[in-house]
Amino acid sequence: MNPAPRWRASPNFDDREAPVDMLILHYTGMKTAAAALDRLCDPDARVSAHYVIEEDGTAWQLVEEERRAWHAGVSRWRGAPLVNGRSIGIELVNPGHEFGYRPFPAAQIDALIPLCRGILARHAIPPRHVLGHADVAPARKEDPGELFPWQALGAAGIGLWPTPAPDADPAWPAVARDLALVGYDIGSGDPADPALRLALVAFQRHWRQRLWDGQPDRESAAQLAGLCALIC
Ligand SMILES: [Zn+2]
Repeated sequence: MNPAPRWRASPNFDDREAPVDMLILHYTGMKTAAAALDRLCDPDARVSAHYVIEEDGTAWQLVEEERRAWHAGVSRWRGAPLVNGRSIGIELVNPGHEFGYRPFPAAQIDALIPLCRGILARHAIPPRHVLGHADVAPARKEDPGELFPWQALGAAGIGLWPTPAPDADPAWPAVARDLALVGYDIGSGDPADPALRLALVAFQRHWRQRLWDGQPDRESAAQLAGLCALIC
Protein backbone atom coordinates (compact mmCIF):
# COMPACT_ATOMS: atom_id res chain seq x y z
CA MET A 1 0.00 0.00 0.00
CA ASN A 2 1.56 3.24 -1.09
CA PRO A 3 1.15 6.28 1.14
CA ALA A 4 -1.10 9.07 -0.12
CA PRO A 5 0.75 11.74 -2.09
CA ARG A 6 2.12 14.58 -0.03
CA TRP A 7 0.88 18.08 -0.79
CA ARG A 8 3.05 20.73 -2.32
CA ALA A 9 0.53 23.27 -3.60
CA SER A 10 1.14 24.97 -6.93
CA PRO A 11 -0.50 28.32 -7.71
CA ASN A 12 -0.63 27.37 -11.39
CA PHE A 13 -4.22 26.24 -12.00
CA ASP A 14 -7.65 27.58 -12.83
CA ASP A 15 -11.21 26.30 -13.26
CA ARG A 16 -12.14 23.40 -15.48
CA GLU A 17 -14.58 23.84 -18.32
CA ALA A 18 -15.35 20.14 -18.89
CA PRO A 19 -15.50 16.89 -16.92
CA VAL A 20 -12.29 14.88 -16.65
CA ASP A 21 -12.06 12.19 -19.33
CA MET A 22 -8.31 11.99 -20.05
CA LEU A 23 -5.16 11.01 -18.17
CA ILE A 24 -1.89 12.40 -19.55
CA LEU A 25 1.52 11.10 -18.48
CA HIS A 26 4.71 13.15 -18.74
CA TYR A 27 8.32 13.15 -17.75
CA THR A 28 9.72 16.25 -16.07
CA GLY A 29 12.73 16.59 -18.39
CA MET A 30 14.79 18.40 -15.77
CA LYS A 31 18.06 17.49 -14.06
CA THR A 32 16.60 16.95 -10.59
CA ALA A 33 13.28 16.34 -8.88
CA ALA A 34 13.77 19.47 -6.78
CA ALA A 35 14.24 21.63 -9.86
CA ALA A 36 11.10 20.17 -11.43
CA LEU A 37 8.98 20.69 -8.32
CA ASP A 38 10.25 24.26 -7.98
CA ARG A 39 9.35 25.04 -11.58
CA LEU A 40 5.90 23.43 -11.38
CA CYS A 41 5.16 25.62 -8.34
CA ASP A 42 6.71 28.84 -9.70
CA PRO A 43 3.98 31.38 -10.51
CA ASP A 44 6.17 32.88 -13.25
CA ALA A 45 6.58 29.52 -15.02
CA ARG A 46 2.81 29.10 -15.46
CA VAL A 47 3.10 25.30 -15.67
CA SER A 48 1.93 22.62 -13.28
CA ALA A 49 0.59 19.08 -13.02
CA HIS A 50 -1.77 17.37 -10.62
CA TYR A 51 0.87 14.91 -9.45
CA VAL A 52 4.63 14.39 -9.51
CA ILE A 53 6.27 11.02 -8.81
CA GLU A 54 9.95 10.87 -7.99
CA GLU A 55 12.20 8.02 -9.08
CA ASP A 56 12.10 6.48 -5.57
CA GLY A 57 8.28 6.46 -5.66
CA THR A 58 7.73 9.56 -3.52
CA ALA A 59 4.50 11.13 -4.78
CA TRP A 60 3.39 14.75 -4.57
CA GLN A 61 0.05 16.37 -5.31
CA LEU A 62 0.27 19.94 -6.59
CA VAL A 63 -3.24 20.70 -7.83
CA GLU A 64 -6.69 19.38 -6.84
CA GLU A 65 -8.13 17.01 -9.45
CA GLU A 66 -11.21 19.26 -9.70
CA ARG A 67 -9.06 22.11 -11.01
CA ARG A 68 -7.34 22.56 -14.35
CA ALA A 69 -3.57 22.13 -14.12
CA TRP A 70 -1.39 23.54 -16.88
CA HIS A 71 0.56 20.53 -18.11
CA ALA A 72 -0.20 19.80 -21.76
CA GLY A 73 -0.11 23.23 -23.46
CA VAL A 74 -1.10 23.37 -27.11
CA SER A 75 -2.50 19.91 -27.71
CA ARG A 76 -5.12 17.98 -29.66
CA TRP A 77 -6.73 14.55 -29.52
CA ARG A 78 -9.56 13.12 -31.62
CA GLY A 79 -10.01 16.53 -33.20
CA ALA A 80 -10.51 18.40 -29.93
CA PRO A 81 -7.95 21.05 -28.96
CA LEU A 82 -6.45 21.85 -25.56
CA VAL A 83 -6.64 18.80 -23.36
CA ASN A 84 -5.81 20.54 -20.05
CA GLY A 85 -9.45 21.41 -19.36
CA ARG A 86 -10.50 17.75 -19.39
CA SER A 87 -7.42 15.89 -18.19
CA ILE A 88 -5.40 14.94 -15.16
CA GLY A 89 -1.64 15.27 -15.60
CA ILE A 90 1.04 13.20 -13.88
CA GLU A 91 4.72 14.14 -14.15
CA LEU A 92 7.30 11.37 -13.69
CA VAL A 93 10.69 12.61 -12.62
CA ASN A 94 13.20 11.72 -15.36
CA PRO A 95 15.93 13.88 -16.94
CA GLY A 96 14.34 13.26 -20.33
CA HIS A 97 15.93 13.23 -23.75
CA GLU A 98 17.67 16.56 -23.12
CA PHE A 99 19.52 15.67 -19.91
CA GLY A 100 20.07 11.89 -20.02
CA TYR A 101 16.93 9.87 -20.61
CA ARG A 102 16.92 6.71 -18.51
CA PRO A 103 14.58 3.87 -17.54
CA PHE A 104 11.78 4.58 -15.09
CA PRO A 105 12.68 2.66 -11.89
CA ALA A 106 10.35 -0.05 -10.58
CA ALA A 107 9.69 1.97 -7.41
CA GLN A 108 8.41 4.87 -9.52
CA ILE A 109 6.09 2.66 -11.59
CA ASP A 110 4.94 0.83 -8.44
CA ALA A 111 3.79 4.21 -7.10
CA LEU A 112 2.28 5.29 -10.43
CA ILE A 113 0.01 2.27 -10.90
CA PRO A 114 -2.11 2.68 -7.75
CA LEU A 115 -2.28 6.44 -8.32
CA CYS A 116 -3.63 5.84 -11.84
CA ARG A 117 -6.08 3.23 -10.60
CA GLY A 118 -7.47 5.70 -8.08
CA ILE A 119 -7.85 8.40 -10.76
CA LEU A 120 -9.58 5.95 -13.11
CA ALA A 121 -11.95 4.97 -10.29
CA ARG A 122 -12.83 8.61 -9.55
CA HIS A 123 -13.37 9.78 -13.14
CA ALA A 124 -14.96 8.37 -16.32
CA ILE A 125 -11.74 8.05 -18.35
CA PRO A 126 -11.93 5.53 -21.22
CA PRO A 127 -8.81 3.37 -21.72
CA ARG A 128 -8.13 5.04 -25.09
CA HIS A 129 -7.77 8.37 -23.26
CA VAL A 130 -4.79 7.25 -21.17
CA LEU A 131 -2.00 8.86 -23.18
CA GLY A 132 1.44 10.41 -23.20
CA HIS A 133 2.12 14.09 -23.69
CA ALA A 134 3.74 13.29 -27.05
CA ASP A 135 0.52 11.62 -28.23
CA VAL A 136 -1.45 14.85 -27.83
CA ALA A 137 1.38 17.20 -28.94
CA PRO A 138 3.51 15.15 -31.37
CA ALA A 139 5.11 18.16 -33.06
CA ARG A 140 6.44 19.57 -29.77
CA LYS A 141 6.89 16.79 -27.24
CA GLU A 142 8.61 13.40 -26.78
CA ASP A 143 7.48 12.53 -23.25
CA PRO A 144 7.18 10.18 -21.48
CA GLY A 145 9.05 8.50 -24.34
CA GLU A 146 10.02 5.07 -25.59
CA LEU A 147 11.35 3.79 -22.24
CA PHE A 148 8.04 4.30 -20.49
CA PRO A 149 6.49 0.88 -19.66
CA TRP A 150 3.14 1.29 -21.41
CA GLN A 151 2.80 -2.46 -21.89
CA ALA A 152 3.10 -3.06 -18.12
CA LEU A 153 0.53 -0.37 -17.46
CA GLY A 154 -1.81 -1.95 -19.97
CA ALA A 155 -1.38 -5.30 -18.21
CA ALA A 156 -2.32 -3.50 -14.98
CA GLY A 157 -5.54 -2.24 -16.58
CA ILE A 158 -4.29 1.29 -17.28
CA GLY A 159 -4.59 2.29 -20.93
CA LEU A 160 -4.50 -0.03 -23.94
CA TRP A 161 -1.89 -2.45 -25.24
CA PRO A 162 -2.94 -4.13 -28.49
CA THR A 163 -2.58 -7.61 -29.86
CA PRO A 164 -0.87 -7.09 -33.24
CA ALA A 165 -2.91 -7.64 -36.39
CA PRO A 166 -0.26 -9.27 -38.65
CA ASP A 167 -2.10 -8.76 -41.94
CA ALA A 168 -2.36 -4.96 -41.55
CA ASP A 169 -1.54 -2.82 -44.58
CA PRO A 170 1.79 -1.01 -43.95
CA ALA A 171 1.31 1.62 -46.69
CA TRP A 172 0.85 5.28 -45.76
CA PRO A 173 -2.82 5.65 -46.66
CA ALA A 174 -3.89 2.86 -44.28
CA VAL A 175 -1.45 3.95 -41.56
CA ALA A 176 -2.60 7.58 -41.82
CA ARG A 177 -6.24 6.52 -41.63
CA ASP A 178 -5.62 4.38 -38.55
CA LEU A 179 -3.55 7.07 -36.78
CA ALA A 180 -6.45 9.49 -37.23
CA LEU A 181 -8.94 6.86 -36.03
CA VAL A 182 -6.93 6.38 -32.85
CA GLY A 183 -6.97 10.14 -32.28
CA TYR A 184 -3.69 11.59 -33.56
CA ASP A 185 -3.48 14.96 -35.25
CA ILE A 186 -2.09 13.99 -38.68
CA GLY A 187 -2.27 17.44 -40.26
CA SER A 188 -3.31 17.20 -43.88
CA GLY A 189 -2.72 13.43 -43.84
CA ASP A 190 -0.31 13.74 -46.77
CA PRO A 191 2.99 11.85 -46.29
CA ALA A 192 4.77 15.09 -47.27
CA ASP A 193 3.21 16.81 -44.24
CA PRO A 194 5.61 16.56 -41.27
CA ALA A 195 2.57 16.33 -38.98
CA LEU A 196 1.78 12.84 -40.28
CA ARG A 197 5.32 11.52 -39.74
CA LEU A 198 5.49 13.07 -36.25
CA ALA A 199 2.18 11.44 -35.34
CA LEU A 200 3.65 8.09 -36.38
CA VAL A 201 6.79 8.76 -34.30
CA ALA A 202 4.59 9.44 -31.26
CA PHE A 203 2.59 6.30 -31.93
CA GLN A 204 5.79 4.26 -32.19
CA ARG A 205 7.24 5.68 -28.95
CA HIS A 206 4.06 4.55 -27.21
CA TRP A 207 3.00 1.32 -28.90
CA ARG A 208 6.09 0.05 -30.85
CA GLN A 209 8.95 1.16 -28.66
CA ARG A 210 11.81 -0.72 -30.33
CA LEU A 211 12.12 1.80 -33.16
CA TRP A 212 10.52 5.22 -33.58
CA ASP A 213 11.71 6.38 -36.96
CA GLY A 214 8.42 7.67 -38.36
CA GLN A 215 8.55 5.11 -41.17
CA PRO A 216 5.47 3.00 -41.76
CA ASP A 217 6.38 -0.68 -41.59
CA ARG A 218 4.68 -4.02 -40.98
CA GLU A 219 5.30 -4.09 -37.24
CA SER A 220 3.95 -0.56 -36.68
CA ALA A 221 0.96 -1.22 -38.91
CA ALA A 222 0.20 -4.44 -37.01
CA GLN A 223 0.28 -2.64 -33.66
CA LEU A 224 -1.80 0.22 -35.02
CA ALA A 225 -4.44 -2.02 -36.56
CA GLY A 226 -4.54 -4.03 -33.33
CA LEU A 227 -5.16 -0.83 -31.41
CA CYS A 228 -7.92 0.19 -33.81
CA ALA A 229 -9.55 -3.20 -33.30
CA LEU A 230 -9.75 -2.44 -29.57
CA ILE A 231 -11.33 0.99 -29.94
CA CYS A 232 -13.07 1.25 -33.30
ZN1 LIG B 1 5.02 16.77 -20.79
